[in-house]
Amino acid sequence: MKKLIIAKNIGFCFGVKRAVETAEKLLETISSLYTIGNIVHNPLVIEKLKKRGLVICNSIEEIKGKYFIVRSHGLSKKEIEKLKKENKKIFDMTCPFVKRIHYLVENWNKKGHYVIIIGNKNHPEVLGIKGYGAKVEVLEDKEDVEKIKNRSYNKILIVGQTTLNFKKYLEVIENIMKKISASEILVLNTICKITEEREKEAMKIAQDVDAVLVLGGKESSNTKKLYKVCKKICKNTFYIEKFLDLNKIHYDRFKSIGIVSGTSTPYFFIDEVVKYFKKNKYKEVL
Ligand code: SF4
Repeated sequence: MKKLIIAKNIGFCFGVKRAVETAEKLLETISSLYTIGNIVHNPLVIEKLKKRGLVICNSIEEIKGKYFIVRSHGLSKKEIEKLKKENKKIFDMTCPFVKRIHYLVENWNKKGHYVIIIGNKNHPEVLGIKGYGAKVEVLEDKEDVEKIKNRSYNKILIVGQTTLNFKKYLEVIENIMKKISASEILVLNTICKITEEREKEAMKIAQDVDAVLVLGGKESSNTKKLYKVCKKICKNTFYIEKFLDLNKIHYDRFKSIGIVSGTSTPYFFIDEVVKYFKKNKYKEVL
């Protein structure tokens, strides 16, 4: 019997689900809804939403309509204020985990803490968080920390991008401590457990199967990470963004296939792939 193992943690995470469902609902009654950057890093979902009236802009200046949705990554305070000033009707779908970081950065910065964000400098979530404090610095990794000069502060707050690997977060913090000193260093755990749980489950599946299919958009950073961790364990790991990508795989040689997905992969796509393998005599095992 050919086996199909489907991850339990699969499909949209709750932050992405909330943003996409809100956009869908709004587009039932309004003809155009604006956003900055892709609302979700998945071309299949974006294509559907665009057909229904979602307009993706690169900056506030490009927004021509009244209705605006903030994606789960959030936006900087300055951008939100600018949108309000222009009388836009804002639907704020910033993930509550990201919103919490906005609040922490703003408040501790006001209390006099110098803020260090560990994360990808160009990621929209990090850019948004950065905009909530005046004295803020972003450090990406250990190599980035090595480049900075030794310095000291009175008080420091350290937060991390939600999708960071917790081990990596701690490693970077350890390196920061060697370079930057302060009488008070407040380190907060701002990592979202959802992506970490998916990584753990994907690694376990990759050990038990002949091939792994990682379903998700090529631009999705957490899908890319899943692909990387699975590929390390199982050389037959494939990135499947769209149904046609399955044509590239000669899966007949695999007795067991694992299916995992990033947090921006829609269920309709996962279903389509699962049905296809079931039709081809793979049986789902728990
Ligand atoms: S991965 Fe976590 S932090 Fe990011 S949108 Fe989903 S629930 Fe929110």
